[in-house]
Amino acid sequence: MKDFRFFGPTAVEFGVGKLDKLGELTAPLGARVMLVTVPWEEPLVEMFERAEHSLREARLDVLLFPQVQPNPTVETVDAGGHFAREEGVEVVIGMGGGSSMDTAKGIAVAATHPHPVWDYMYFQDAQPDYRTLPIVAVTTTSGTGSHVTKVAVLTKTDEACKSAIASDMVFPEVAVVDPALMTGLPRGITASTTFDAYTHAFESYINPGGSPMTDLLALESLRLLADNGLPVLDNGTEVELRSNLAWADTLAGWCIANAGTTLPHAMGQPISGHFPHVSHGQSLAIVYPAFLEYTCEASPERFIAAGKLFDSSVRDCEGAVGAMVKWMTELGMKLTLSDVGITEEQLAPVLADCMAFPGVGCNPRVPCAEEVMAMYKQVLK
Ligand code: NAD
Repeated sequence: MKDFRFFGPTAVEFGVGKLDKLGELTAPLGARVMLVTVPWEEPLVEMFERAEHSLREARLDVLLFPQVQPNPTVETVDAGGHFAREEGVEVVIGMGGGSSMDTAKGIAVAATHPHPVWDYMYFQDAQPDYRTLPIVAVTTTSGTGSHVTKVAVLTKTDEACKSAIASDMVFPEVAVVDPALMTGLPRGITASTTFDAYTHAFESYINPGGSPMTDLLALESLRLLADNGLPVLDNGTEVELRSNLAWADTLAGWCIANAGTTLPHAMGQPISGHFPHVSHGQSLAIVYPAFLEYTCEASPERFIAAGKLFDSSVRDCEGAVGAMVKWMTELGMKLTLSDVGITEEQLAPVLADCMAFPGVGCNPRVPCAEEVMAMYKQVLK
């Protein structure tokens, strides 16, 4: 068996009603807490009020920061870091989807380090250290796994560049996963977050950097996604389905924290960076069919094992790709670049950013720039 390291230091509190324990869970980490969310609008107001109530019941000082936007920016994070420093914040709580949890992680770094947060992205010389504030993550979607990952994805608006902090320092201390919070997720966000979790599990499973532990987690995550992803679309209020997806998302988060993503994230992330109206899940969906086709012959056993979870009659790579593309189509996640208004002329900077991502080199079949461009062109229409 190959040697490996598995690290998942986050305490996971999983279950319906866990939100009401937020104060009790946060209190040991500090008394002055910052609650980082999107603006308090319907349908999220009630759950934010419950979170604030639980924190105040635990006698914590609560400072609200309702300024998160989708595809969060370093500008918001630096503003949040300044606010946290001025106010003497001791714990940062990110509550919402990946955008809110990642903003909170960035603020925990920005509040405690001397430079703007972009200077601590994974490719920079400086890296977050022990000064980073403790982070609590309350996930309200089930796609990014951010509540158990060491990643915070942020966009630098003036360079249209989407990149990430990747550091053990931003693993949350505590993750609250309360599947009842997800029962109001609209169909479109449910589909795109389900697909996001699938990409984490699948890419970790085929990543040569995976381990026996991530294989175990990835296959169980894929099984849960295959069994529950389509039924939840018409039964979004069913807590059991939401629980299965929230668990699949958590398993897939541990996978990416330890094995990592591959080519689709390298190809998709710059799409959302240059075109922020394209969500993370959509950008991945666009590139997936071309990636699956390009990569399958380089990892046939794993493609077939994963494909069988989506269609038990799968016997070969072609069948595996077909089963997974069929599933994503039924999920409503079969998209092209032109569906989101992107033309061939706009692809050059996207390609340049893609080739700089480590995920390209982690793919079982490593493409050159021309091959990646050919894949982008394949999914233009
Ligand atoms: P999101 O956080 O951007 O939220 C999408 C929308 O859903 C928002 O409008 C939000 O207010 C709404 N929403 C959230 N919870 C809701 C609920 N329970 N009911 C109704 N509406 C709700 O979406 P996301 O897909 O969770 O996160 C995407 C971000 O996460 C991207 O920036 C992506 O790059 C990043 N990401 C991070 C990691 C990581 O490891 N840190 C991994 C993958 C993706």
